[in-house]
Amino acid sequence: PYDGPTAAEIARKRAKFLSPSLFHFYSKPLNIVEGKMQYLYDEHGRRYLDAFAGIATVCCGHSHPDIVDAITAQAKRLQHSTVLYLNHAIADFAEALASKMPGDLKVVFFTNSGTEANELAIMMARMYTGSHDIISLRNSYHGNAAATMGATAQKNWKFNVIQSGVHHAVNPDPYRGAFGSDAEKYARDVKEIIEFGTTGHVAGFISEAIQGVGGIVEVSPGYLPLAYDTVRKAGGLCIADEVQAGFARVGSYFWGFETHGVIPDIVTMAKGIGNGIPLGAVVTTPEIAQVLTRRSYFNTFGGNPFCTAGGLAVLKVLDKEKLQENAFIVGSYLKDRLRGLQEKHEIIGDVRGTGFMLGVELVTDRQLKTPAKDEICRAMEHMKDMGVLVGKGGFYGNVFRITPPLCFTKEDADFFVDVMDIALSKL
Ligand code: PMP
Repeated sequence: PYDGPTAAEIARKRAKFLSPSLFHFYSKPLNIVEGKMQYLYDEHGRRYLDAFAGIATVCCGHSHPDIVDAITAQAKRLQHSTVLYLNHAIADFAEALASKMPGDLKVVFFTNSGTEANELAIMMARMYTGSHDIISLRNSYHGNAAATMGATAQKNWKFNVIQSGVHHAVNPDPYRGAFGSDAEKYARDVKEIIEFGTTGHVAGFISEAIQGVGGIVEVSPGYLPLAYDTVRKAGGLCIADEVQAGFARVGSYFWGFETHGVIPDIVTMAKGIGNGIPLGAVVTTPEIAQVLTRRSYFNTFGGNPFCTAGGLAVLKVLDKEKLQENAFIVGSYLKDRLRGLQEKHEIIGDVRGTGFMLGVELVTDRQLKTPAKDEICRAMEHMKDMGVLVGKGGFYGNVFRITPPLCFTKEDADFFVDVMDIALSKL
């Protein structure tokens, strides 16, 4: 039993000693004290089925025993910075990670977060090409430091940083986008940005395969090959941000970009890579990696033995437990069941996504697509009361984000949909 401080005590400390900008879900925030695989437990021992996984962060399951064993053993042996000496943990994990990448993507740089990974990727693209302009997609989220906040394209997440050389292309959003699913029309915007907004040369293009924070928006099929082609003709590098979609989550493939049949020049990752441990990475080709030899590049903790021992254990668990296959099978089943729910509830405007990266968009009018912002908050509260935690996001904050740990079962999927059904009926 838990004998730590109560939710009220923690909330009081948080209000006094932590950032006033911190936010939380639910009118009465949950005090989560323990996690086991797809379940989270609050201070009263109440169990919740976790369909958000700390924002697609926990891929193998909360406190997965193999991963706990690996990091515990490493913590007992050595906790250290990354540089100065040789250690096998970072080399072993880099090798294992590279084996998951297509083409010539073989050199790994480790970071502590997704932001750091994308900052590094953008800097490398600028150095390699000698150009400055970066194209990202409207509605994207890439991080909260200077270059990545510039690339991020939702006003909610943007402070007053100088957006040097960033252009935001029309979002190839099949549900709300101006051109429907017409990939060619969206890709033309990338061409026009280059022609009208730059010297004709760009440093690169960055995009998620499925926008996570943006509300599980799958970029239109056929768009990425066209956009990559256009950007490469302008001398730019193509960066795939796999922070949410990567690591087996989409089910059909290990990486989100693979669902579009493209091979990026640089891939960035975080979240799922560490199953809850702070870890990020940039993977690129040996040729592009060379740019960092022009100066000294250094990251004290990026790829430290503790985190990389955990990362290697994550990859082993994904393989051993066939979690990509599970994401495909159970994710497809869950999506079908959510589509069934859409037939019943007028408020569901769209069901989308792949594998265990699914979105359910709530609208008060299907024709006008009016975002059901209050309704989604109420539905989330009802679901929480019935023991299910889900995420929410999208530009209007009206999309359920369903990104469970990849060990989520068919029974979990049924329970999840039944609970969502009741919650929507209660509105
Ligand atoms: N890219 C994507 C697609 C993300 O979803 C996020 C985090 N929400 C980031 C980058 C930034 O990662 P971090 O919060 O670890 O800096």
